[in-house]
Amino acid sequence: PKIVIAIDGYSSCGKSTTAKQVAARLGYAYIDTGAMYRAVSLFLLQNHIALTNPKAVQEALHHIHISFNFNPKTGRNETCLNSLNIEEEIRKMYISDIVSEVSAIPEVRYAMVAQQQKMGRKRGVVMDGRDIGTKVFPDAELKIFMTADPVIRAQRRQIELLQKGEMVGLDEILTNLKKRDFIDSNRSEGPLRKADDAIELDTSYITLDEQADWVVQLADE
Ligand code: C5P
Repeated sequence: PKIVIAIDGYSSCGKSTTAKQVAARLGYAYIDTGAMYRAVSLFLLQNHIALTNPKAVQEALHHIHISFNFNPKTGRNETCLNSLNIEEEIRKMYISDIVSEVSAIPEVRYAMVAQQQKMGRKRGVVMDGRDIGTKVFPDAELKIFMTADPVIRAQRRQIELLQKGEMVGLDEILTNLKKRDFIDSNRSEGPLRKADDAIELDTSYITLDEQADWVVQLADE
């Protein structure tokens, strides 16, 4: 039977790469919930909407349509904001710099969580984020909580950014990761925390293939 696999944890532990691989191997859908908060961040920035104005943010949410479109050329899903492909743009550092503030706004969370619950209703889905096992799908059959040494996470993120042509210093990345983890863990709505029934995985010293093998094995049980 198809299940919901929730993968939560700190920033840059390899959640999305693992989730993608697991979904491909099990023939499941993959939903990157972080991309949705990044898309909202981009929209608010582009439209000069103050994060401190909940009414304006609420109004803006009516104009935000997020979808994941499969691109047969790359074999990958692309995040789209109002039908425009924003996959590359939302991975940049200037979005990472504000996304945690945006995702802490309760109005934003209510809207995204509702959409994520709709997307996962059919089961057979791997969803990665911060509150999937606690809030979005508290009844998920398999919950993973990923952690890793912050310096190792920053190094991985640096390589990822470099591959996309953005050169960012290790200190700046480390500061960003720690700041995001702090804001994510301390917000009022849907804070980042391990669900009581989640299985913890420290990814510091294992490969991405090993991470995926481990999750697939758990899903098979
Ligand atoms: O996973 P990713 O690093 O792309 O997520 C970006 C940000 O989106 C996180 O730092 C967090 O602030 C927010 N987020 C969230 N809830 C989720 C997924 C992401 O608050 N389910």
